[in-house]
Amino acid sequence: MKNIYLNIYRPNYINLKKVKKCIENNNVIGLPTETVYGLAGNAYSDKSVKKIFNLKRRPLFNPLIIHFKNLNDLKNDVILNTNFRKLYDAFCPGPITFVLKKKKKSRISIIATAGKKTVAVRVPKHRVARNLLDILKFPLAAPSANISSKLSPTSAKDVFEEFGNKIKFILDGGQCKIGLESTIVDLTGKPSILRPGSVTLKKIQKVLKKKIKIKKNPKKIKAPGQSKLHYSPGIPVKLNRKNAKKNQALIGFGKKFKVGKNYFNLSKKGNLKEAANNLYKTMREVKKKKFKSIAVIKIPNKGIGYAINDRLKKASNK
Ligand code: AMP
Ligand code: MG
Repeated sequence: MKNIYLNIYRPNYINLKKVKKCIENNNVIGLPTETVYGLAGNAYSDKSVKKIFNLKRRPLFNPLIIHFKNLNDLKNDVILNTNFRKLYDAFCPGPITFVLKKKKKSRISIIATAGKKTVAVRVPKHRVARNLLDILKFPLAAPSANISSKLSPTSAKDVFEEFGNKIKFILDGGQCKIGLESTIVDLTGKPSILRPGSVTLKKIQKVLKKKIKIKKNPKKIKAPGQSKLHYSPGIPVKLNRKNAKKNQALIGFGKKFKVGKNYFNLSKKGNLKEAANNLYKTMREVKKKKFKSIAVIKIPNKGIGYAINDRLKKASNK
C-alpha cells in the first residue's frame, strides 16, 4: 500500500534539527505531548501564531497555550506566585496549564494571547516535546492540533487527518499517554479550574491546602474549552444511554459491557484513566465506521471521570 503519511517523521536527532529550522522560519508543525498532539509554532512570532489560528480556523479571541522548557524560561514572560510554585513543584513537567499575569517585557505574540494581560503556560513532559524545546531559543504556542471545535488528536495519524499535507512536519511520538487536554488553572487571583483534566481538583486542593472552585459557566469565557460545542466528533453525541438505536454506536466501559459490532469498550478493566485515553481515539473510529450518532453510557464522575464527562457534555452540546 502506498504510504500517504509523507509528513510524519520519527523524532530522531536529524529530524528534530529539520523541524527546528522549519519553526525558525515561522512555520508550524505537529508535536506530540503527553495530553494531546499540538500544532506548534514560535510563540514570539506573530507570523507563526497567525498560521496556527488560520490552520485551525480558530477565532482570534481564543488565546493559545504557550509551552516552555522549564521554570527559568517561564520567568521571562509571566509573573510567578506562591500558588504557582506549589503546583509547579507537585505536577511539572506535566499535564497542567497555568493562567498567569504576563510580564510587561514579555515577547509573546499579542495575537497568541488574544490581546490579554494574562498567558496560559505549560511545561510538557513528553520526551519529544522536551527535546524540541531544548534546542529552541523560544517557547512554543501549541494549541491542540485539530480544526476548531473538533476532537483533539492523540496520534500522529490523527493530526494528518486534520491537516494532511498543509503542515510540513508531524513528529510521531506514539499514542498520547493521557489522551485528554491539560487541566487549566487560573492563578491570577483566587485559584480556580477553567478546564478539568487528569490533574484533578482533589489533587490540586491537596497541594494548595484549600478549596478550589471549578468555573462552570463564567460570564466571560476565559478558555474556549468552556464554550459550547467543543471536542465534537462531527456526529451527534447522546449521554447517559443504556442502548444504541439504529445506526448508532454505543460507547461504554467495564467488564460487563456488551460485545458487538456497534459496541465500543473504552476500558475492559473498567479503569477510568484507560477510558480517558481511549475516548477520542474511539470517537474517531466510530465516525470512520460511518455510524450516524454516538450514545455513551453513564461515566462515573470521579477522578479523571470528571474530565471525561466535561468533554462529553461539550461534545453533546450540553
Ligand atoms: P487548546 O490548546 O486548543 O486546548 O486550547 C488552549 C486553552 O487555553 C484554551 O481553552 C484557551 O482559552 C486557554 N487559554 C489560553 N490563554 C488563556 C488565558 N490568558 N486565560 C484563560 N485561558 C486561556
Ligand atoms: Mg483545543
